[in-house]
Amino acid sequence: VTVYRDTGIVLRTYRLGEADRIVVVLTPAHGKVRAVAKGVRKTKSRFGARLEPLSHCAFLFYEGRDLDIVSQADVIDHFATVRGDLDRLTKGIALCEAVDLITHEREPGERRYQMLLGALRALAAADRPLLVPAFFWKLLDAEGYRPEVDACVACGSDGPLVAFDLDQGGALCRSCRQGVAVSPEVFVLLQQILGGGLVAALNEPASTATHELESLATRAMEHNLERRLRAMGVLGRL
Ligand SMILES: [Zn+2]
Repeated sequence: VTVYRDTGIVLRTYRLGEADRIVVVLTPAHGKVRAVAKGVRKTKSRFGARLEPLSHCAFLFYEGRDLDIVSQADVIDHFATVRGDLDRLTKGIALCEAVDLITHEREPGERRYQMLLGALRALAAADRPLLVPAFFWKLLDAEGYRPEVDACVACGSDGPLVAFDLDQGGALCRSCRQGVAVSPEVFVLLQQILGGGLVAALNEPASTATHELESLATRAMEHNLERRLRAMGVLGRL
């Protein structure tokens, strides 16, 4: 039997039969792993609450014929401050959901793993309005989808930039306007996030612009994934 160890972040879990659960875990060395946690749904499961989305654990996996099996899971960080707050928990789940949907199984993922871990730690430290949208843009950027935000994507003019079009992948000036209307402050924040100003953008207090940017980031992510993000729908209703 082949056994392997890795650390990992639980992205998602779902039921398998009466007592088992499938856990989807993002690891640095083995990419996205899908494995069975046996007996996890019994009240006296040896895994307890460790195998829940967001949990950062040290794992021991057995390689199975179809699915690998979780043999051990020791908690490194349970992100209790995130779990204790519905708004933050929903944001944490949104980060995990986007990573899960964008990542293919077994695709090497050290950088993405570090990004997600960093974002969850930042979320545990403070509930900042631009954390989720900034993460979405950075994730898309790392995937090769980098929007043009410094000039009009259609004609190259420096603006004023007034709209953003997902199909064309960037900002549009007044004469080329198409897609979603976007205010100038949003472009400033977007330029910061995609340039070297992430820290400054994360310190931005909640405003109309941060809301607008969150909604644009969600649309861009969903456009890219060709799917809706369930957690973002929940967040909108909180
Ligand atoms: Zn233009």
